[in-house]
Amino acid sequence: MFESLSDRLSGVFDRLTKQGALSDEDVKTALREVRVALLEADVSLSVARDFVKAVQEKATGQAVTKSITPGQQVVKIVHDELVSVLTGDSDPGKLKIDSPPAPILMVGLQGSGKTTTTAKLAKRLTERDGKRVLMASLDVNRPAAMEQLEILGRQIGVDTLPIVKGEDPVAIAKRAKTQASLGGYDVYMLDTAGRLHIDQELIAQAAAVRDAVTPRETLLVVDGLTGQDAVNVATEFDDKIGVSGVVLTRMDGDGRGGAALSMRKVTGKPIRFVGLGEKMDAIETFEAERIAGRILG
Ligand code: GDP
Repeated sequence: MFESLSDRLSGVFDRLTKQGALSDEDVKTALREVRVALLEADVSLSVARDFVKAVQEKATGQAVTKSITPGQQVVKIVHDELVSVLTGDSDPGKLKIDSPPAPILMVGLQGSGKTTTTAKLAKRLTERDGKRVLMASLDVNRPAAMEQLEILGRQIGVDTLPIVKGEDPVAIAKRAKTQASLGGYDVYMLDTAGRLHIDQELIAQAAAVRDAVTPRETLLVVDGLTGQDAVNVATEFDDKIGVSGVVLTRMDGDGRGGAALSMRKVTGKPIRFVGLGEKMDAIETFEAERIAGRILG
């Protein structure tokens, strides 16, 4: 188990003399602990370093508040800074789906949870927002992935585009668009092919689909447990395809969610949703406060 940052800091401050203001030395000692806690939460080294610097500037010389201990005070400054960095979108759960049928492009590596997330979001749009959603799998190299989306669609009561063997991804995307228009759907979601690693072909394919339908949202699905790798994947997808938001999956796992902080700092992209399990309801709108609390422990 991790020792929480709050516990670490109260330990540190118990050993320090109480003064009227946080001294440079107090702040430095405390921030060493903050840095270690961030690294343990899987925040990348450079992001942790920059973050600590920002906190240091805010904390040094700040008057000690009577009602809370210096340890609690530094925790509060760290918490507020975390929330400020993590917040990327005033309304992350609101998808741009005006002017129907609105295309949503789902991209990400194989195994990131892309197909599951596509179905979770389709269910959410259907049940919470009363939208008519059509889902289509473009993963022509993996028939099992296409079938998986079809099975999930049946399970959640959302239509999927009938599978036609031998069609290429752009043709499928265009057929989805036509069917969505003719069928009076509000949204059509395109679950693109995933690979284990980013390669030229994967990017070229996603770009061709993007150009064919001009998505209203391009959501990148990344495994929140993969830390720095998740950030590299996001940087590359954003450079090559352009993404409008990130979905972090497996946030129900043991990780402390540090990838969220690195993701925001490095890519600047808003985190829109978090995946919290395998079930179709296990998705929530991203909340900076919650992740900040989790990183702090
Ligand atoms: P894809 O290859 O990116 O389409 O990945 P899948 O959607 O097939 O997901 C791969 C596995 O991860 C499946 O067993 C999913 O049930 C599981 N999965 C997806 N999202 C989550 C999540 O948020 N939490 C957990 N624990 N498992 C997830």
